[in-house]
Amino acid sequence: MTRLWNDPADFADEMIDGFVAANERYVRRVTGGVLRSTVSPAGQVAVVIGGGSGHYPAFGGLVGQGLAHGAVMGNLFASPSTQQVFAVAKGAAQGGGVFLSYGNYAGDVLNFDAAQDRLRAEGIACETVAVTDDIFSATAAEKHKRRGIAGDLAVFRTAAAAAEAGYDLDGVTRVARHANERTRSIGVAFTGCTLPGAEAPLFSVPEGRMAVGLGIHGEPGIDETDIPTADELAGLLVSSLLEEAPVAIEGARVVPILNGLGSLKYEELFVVYRRVAELLRAAGIEIVDPHVGEYCTSFDMAGTSLTLFWLDDELAQLWDTPVDTPAYRRGSVIQAARSDASPLAEITAEAIPPSDDVSRGVAATVVATLQSVVATVDTHVDELGRIDAIAGDGDHGIGMQRGSHAALSAAIAAADAGAGAATTLARAADAWSNRAGGTSGALWGVILTAIAAKLGDEGAPDAADVAAGVAAGATGIMDYGKAELGDKTMVDAIVPFSAELTRAVDAGARLTDAWRAAAHAATAAAASTADLLPRMGRARPHAHKSLGTPDPGAHSLALIAVAVADVFDNERNALA
Ligand code: ADP
Ligand code: MG
Repeated sequence: MTRLWNDPADFADEMIDGFVAANERYVRRVTGGVLRSTVSPAGQVAVVIGGGSGHYPAFGGLVGQGLAHGAVMGNLFASPSTQQVFAVAKGAAQGGGVFLSYGNYAGDVLNFDAAQDRLRAEGIACETVAVTDDIFSATAAEKHKRRGIAGDLAVFRTAAAAAEAGYDLDGVTRVARHANERTRSIGVAFTGCTLPGAEAPLFSVPEGRMAVGLGIHGEPGIDETDIPTADELAGLLVSSLLEEAPVAIEGARVVPILNGLGSLKYEELFVVYRRVAELLRAAGIEIVDPHVGEYCTSFDMAGTSLTLFWLDDELAQLWDTPVDTPAYRRGSVIQAARSDASPLAEITAEAIPPSDDVSRGVAATVVATLQSVVATVDTHVDELGRIDAIAGDGDHGIGMQRGSHAALSAAIAAADAGAGAATTLARAADAWSNRAGGTSGALWGVILTAIAAKLGDEGAPDAADVAAGVAAGATGIMDYGKAELGDKTMVDAIVPFSAELTRAVDAGARLTDAWRAAAHAATAAAASTADLLPRMGRARPHAHKSLGTPDPGAHSLALIAVAVADVFDNERNALA
């Protein structure tokens, strides 16, 4: 259980405030996360790490000399938004380019990739490596689909050490890829974790049982066994990892990282490590700088993971770099001066572009539409959470709620300030992806941005403009999310929705009628995702569990399509 909070919705923000207040020697708060509070050499590659909060010391606790220059800190277990990644990375840049690294989760991939595009567009060189150490989350043949867990530390540390040693951006990226290739982890858990304010854990493990291959966001385990003895557990962890050794085992140098996931005792970890060390030595491995402690947690989950990081000469040398951060210290650094940089200004509101009366009228329809989206999401929030918990992490309801409410507030503010339809919806899109967190939040940002681009700030869009916007949104989320039809994602709802909308509009239907027909198509398509197995996103490792349940993102999209059809019917006379 998590016992202490104020308003659960403020938990992540208040946690970051307190973390910074306690660690001003190391970090200062900026939009989206934290930066070092010490001066770094000009021209050094800036290493920026990040992800959802709830994994302390990942990610903010790893910012400081010899390790990260900055950390993006999202909401609890939710990817930071593109804007947050961009803001932290921009603040961290020292003139040598930015290196981004994070655990491989769909939402993080979307947002870090989009931030990378924005940095490059501003002339800041940027490269990214997503960590894929969790051997249970996909087969070796599909290593690129594996999740990142405690092996993050190995990749972050060597990349940062390379930056510290003066490597350029290509060099840092090469080292990080190489470190990721040589890092393997496996985790087990005895209880799930409970988010602040939640009544029940995200998943539970029966008393006396152990989930094997769990995720660090409360994704349930892949397999379940009786709780073994400490020695038997050590045997399971070591043998699983040695089966996938990336180099010859005999004579290899390995950094073992035995990681506590949140509420396992250090004493228990030491008992397990005793046997881990014996087994590694028996296999002919030279143990280097063993780590036993908490490096990447999953809130209050009771469990542990073992990471083996297989060194070579270059990685071994980089591993010796001294580090001084709030949660992780190695060797002794020469203290850098405190930075006198003023806190990064919040991204300031840009001026509202000119608009005409007609477009301001359409903006009012945009606001009315978002009001009904909010009402629909509020009605279905529990149901969406429940569906997402079956194979995912249970946050789809709250994510959609945070996103849609933020979008509505931003739209109202823009419309009140005299914005036309395009600007009103574009502001809503940014707010949605900023506040929602998670994969679907980023994708809703993409969809609404694409539609906004077709609305214009002058004159009224016609039905063909709207259909073209939806089609661009569908293409956009497939570009970003890489899911295809049949992968059991929201793509399975938006593609038939868009196809029917375009077909009906091309056949001469009015927007309201075309939209209604398209909403029917989306509803049917979302329902039939129940028969599919997920091949993308968080739910993929638990594919079989979701058979018989529709995809949460497809289902919410269909609900929203129907709600919008009702608004359009009410405004029938005003619409093209
Ligand atoms: P998260 O998966 O980050 O927890 P949500 O729970 O809010 O985010 O949303 C989950 C939904 O996101 C899934 O049901 C699916 O529809 C959608 N989704 C996940 N990954 C992708 C992807 N790569 N492309 C399209 N949609 C995706
Ligand atoms: Mg989810």
